[in-house]
Amino acid sequence: MDLGIKGKRALVCASSKGLGKGCAEALADAGCTLVLNARGAEALEATAADIRAKYGVEVIAVAADITTDEGRAKVLEAAGQIDILVTNAGGPPPGMWTDWTRDDFIKALDANMLTPIALMQAALPGMMERGWGRVVNITSQAVKAPIGVLGLSNSARTGLTGFVAGTSRQVAGSGVTINNLLPGIHATDRAVSLDTGVAKAQGKSLDEARKQREATIPAGRYGTAEEFGAACAFLCSQHAGFIVGQNLLLDGGGINTTL
Ligand code: NAP
Repeated sequence: MDLGIKGKRALVCASSKGLGKGCAEALADAGCTLVLNARGAEALEATAADIRAKYGVEVIAVAADITTDEGRAKVLEAAGQIDILVTNAGGPPPGMWTDWTRDDFIKALDANMLTPIALMQAALPGMMERGWGRVVNITSQAVKAPIGVLGLSNSARTGLTGFVAGTSRQVAGSGVTINNLLPGIHATDRAVSLDTGVAKAQGKSLDEARKQREATIPAGRYGTAEEFGAACAFLCSQHAGFIVGQNLLLDGGGINTTL
């Protein structure tokens, strides 16, 4: 399917690996010019070179921490006028509600709520002026079904979801859509690190820990970054202009709900 976004300029945050990289690749495949970001320069440059070689599109790589004011300023300056914004950052660590301090909450809110909001505040006015734009926020299944040990993530991402619910309706009349993609368990470094924790805690091998989690998913497997990227590219496409303020769950059926 032609997504109709060839030549559009897309900023994909936190995209040297995992789900962000999946989104970047799918947008490159659709012919978008890319601005990629991550903290580690080496993996970021490798991903940028890979995508240039594979898809023949222009790729700018900006090594910076997207959760800091300075990092965002650096990325936004390099990005310039963007048509598509995909927000993403690492998720907060697991823990116990009894242990989290105000500082832990501020850090999580900064990374997974206030950073995407700041990026939208920077990008939306230009998109609205030009009458076209797409924003996709990578959030989490935790927005629909809380994960106790990820309380910092539950809190920050739910706050972002509330902001998007209201704001998406305020900008839709200018040809700009904002939607959220909610990953369930996907085969990325994040999944390996969570499985490693389970394996250690339960005295199992990494493979056993993965099989145990896979068995909880009706699809019987983890999702892939490629599948996730394809959903993101569709939401960024010309065909998705009437999809506004939605929360699309990609979880292989893991969350057992009717709606
Ligand atoms: P990942 O495989 O660990 O990749 C994270 C990417 O983000 C890397 O490129 C990393 O590069 C970059 N990054 C992390 N923190 C950053 C920062 N502060 N500034 C700029 N770049 C940063 O993670 P993932 O699985 O793709 O997850 C992406 C998001 O989805 C996370 O928020 C995660 O919590 C959420 N999520 C994932 C799953 C899953 O199953 N994978 C499920 C639910 C939610 P550097 O480290 O070099 O910066």
